[in-house]
Amino acid sequence: MKEYRKLRNIGIIAHVDAGKTTTTERVLYYTGNIHKPGNIDDGNTVTDSDRQEATRGITISSAAISALWSYENDAYQINIIDTPGHIDFAIEVERSLRILDGAVALFCASSGVEPQSETVWGQSDRYRIPKICFINKMDRIGADFFKVMHQMEREFNIITLPVQIPIGDADDFVGIIDLIDQKALYWNAEDYGRTWTTMEIPEDLKPLALTWREALIERVSNHDDDIMKKYLENQEIEESQLKQAIRGMTLKRTAVPVLCGSSYRNIGVQPLLDAVIDYLPSPQDIEDVEGINLLTHEEENRKPVREEQLSAFIFKVIADNYVGKLAMARVYSGCVQTGDSLLNSRTGDKNRVSRIVRIRADKYSELSEASAGDIVALIGLKDVKTGDTLSSLGSPFTLESIEVADPVLSLAIEPKSRNDEKHFGEALAKLLDEDPSLRMSFDEQTGQTLLHGMGELHLDVRLDRLREDFGIEINQGDPRVTYRELLQETVTHTEVFKKQSGGHGQFAQITFTIGPALETEKGLEFVNTTRGGVVPKEFIPNVEKGFLQAMKNGVLAGYPVESMRVELTDGKIHKEDSSNLDFEIVAGNGFRNAALLAKPFLLEPIMKADIDCPEEYLGNITSDINKKRGLIVGIKENGSKRKVIAEVPLLETFGYISTLRTLTSGRGSVALEMLRYAQVPSHIADQIV
Ligand code: GDP
Repeated sequence: MKEYRKLRNIGIIAHVDAGKTTTTERVLYYTGNIHKPGNIDDGNTVTDSDRQEATRGITISSAAISALWSYENDAYQINIIDTPGHIDFAIEVERSLRILDGAVALFCASSGVEPQSETVWGQSDRYRIPKICFINKMDRIGADFFKVMHQMEREFNIITLPVQIPIGDADDFVGIIDLIDQKALYWNAEDYGRTWTTMEIPEDLKPLALTWREALIERVSNHDDDIMKKYLENQEIEESQLKQAIRGMTLKRTAVPVLCGSSYRNIGVQPLLDAVIDYLPSPQDIEDVEGINLLTHEEENRKPVREEQLSAFIFKVIADNYVGKLAMARVYSGCVQTGDSLLNSRTGDKNRVSRIVRIRADKYSELSEASAGDIVALIGLKDVKTGDTLSSLGSPFTLESIEVADPVLSLAIEPKSRNDEKHFGEALAKLLDEDPSLRMSFDEQTGQTLLHGMGELHLDVRLDRLREDFGIEINQGDPRVTYRELLQETVTHTEVFKKQSGGHGQFAQITFTIGPALETEKGLEFVNTTRGGVVPKEFIPNVEKGFLQAMKNGVLAGYPVESMRVELTDGKIHKEDSSNLDFEIVAGNGFRNAALLAKPFLLEPIMKADIDCPEEYLGNITSDINKKRGLIVGIKENGSKRKVIAEVPLLETFGYISTLRTLTSGRGSVALEMLRYAQVPSHIADQIV
């Protein structure tokens, strides 16, 4: 049987620019996946842009890479799953976080915890992902290991466990002190840090090392009685016991071990890999996966072992120029073999897996099977989308799909050249398969194709892909907010639908109340309180369907109605003429007539903006936010930097990244995230309607 404990599925979560690409590159180099480490600035890294990958013919690292790491005479496989740093890609972050067992949180030693790192940290907590922390860029001016560690404690409310401290900082950063085995490590620059030398801790650093080792042991002892006892009695604590205790706290997510280094200068990456093995969970350490048995429709748990029935989750679909569609899958339970026919629980279709591959740096390796815990690419599946579950034909099962929030804005797009039209359609279809948070619609009135997404940047990046990877020049319109509508009052209405055109007529009549929902936040609350079969049972679902369809286009400005309640109280049929369709039609007409009377109003998306800037620009930022109908929720201090937390209507955030650049001479950064919908003030609403 396969030894699951030798597998780690991890992600590196970080703020943009913290050094994720560089660190991944070093990992690939030290694990023998590539022959020479690339540098991001030379544009030759493996996990660089999609475009570069496309020129290699393989869209590799944008999803996952497998590396082999030898540690204490065992070979471990570490799968590194890519997690995007920007929160406009929330859905991508979530779909990748979902399949991780653990994560390395990467910070820059000089800029510390940035707004975006906080967001991703929060998301990873939501998915209960144990983390270790790597404070990178210790060689930069202003690098301060202890400051970043305190910042983490404060911002994330977590116990930090320093298992290392740096030797020197900025230009003087030369190595690290391992506080567990109490040694100093220095890397050899000649071989890009492939080898290192272990020495005694330098005399002048001994007191500091001792203080921090004490601090580490004290923090651990508060959660481990045996270590507490040894600590109080001044007994020696074995390395393995200490590591075990740290692992326990990490897995429970009460603490994060903290390491440091400089990926760029090739310092500290190998101990990070050791720490991944020491402290992060294997697929067997995680809970059984929950889902629904599609035969019984009951909840079912499946164990993360090969002997269990198959369940696999598709976390990304990639269109590859050479092999076609790659479905990146995490196998949660059981096993899948080449040639197996599997069930796609979303479509109910049977699908044959023609190949199973593992992705190494710049090549695939073929596998005959993948089993519980594995992360692989499946080839040959048709009509597969991100979020799908695959199970065996005899034991149908579905995992919870990724919850996709509804898009908040749209853009009109078209190919610049008529010749590109066919290609344009195909390329869009591929993008939609890859990214479930992207939607497309067709505006009948204007004849335009609309692309819907989660933020301005989200759509920008997708359009870049159309341009650069598919080579299609695009005309695009201005971004438009997707408003919602809501009803304010409850009204009673009777609607009659009647048509007499020669032979068979059509007839339906309903009386109903319509108004704000009482219980649900989203969708239709439909209640039938008719008596005596005035509307026969078989027509009731059609009435509901009619309202459901109609509420997609609100009466105010055609935007979807967020939620509403309809109570069907009375009705009439015509014995010969009434049909299912008539009741659907009467409900739709009834909605359009009655909703107008129920005082509809518009809702707009409100974004949470986390803005980071040097102190001197604070005034510029806050006065601009006020002009933007924004609300300042808080201002935090972080040395000479300030973080402004504000709530701003999406409409007002269009173009904000460049506004911010102007306001702060390029020194500010912002993270925008959808917060909620709120009523549009009437003077603005008048312009929209
Ligand atoms: P990512 O956006 O998180 O993937 O970050 P990159 O790996 O692309 O790095 C961003 C920039 O920081 C690049 O210019 C890197 O060369 C640089 N960088 C990465 N790691 C280090 C480091 O340890 N020290 C220094 N000084 N620069 C680094």
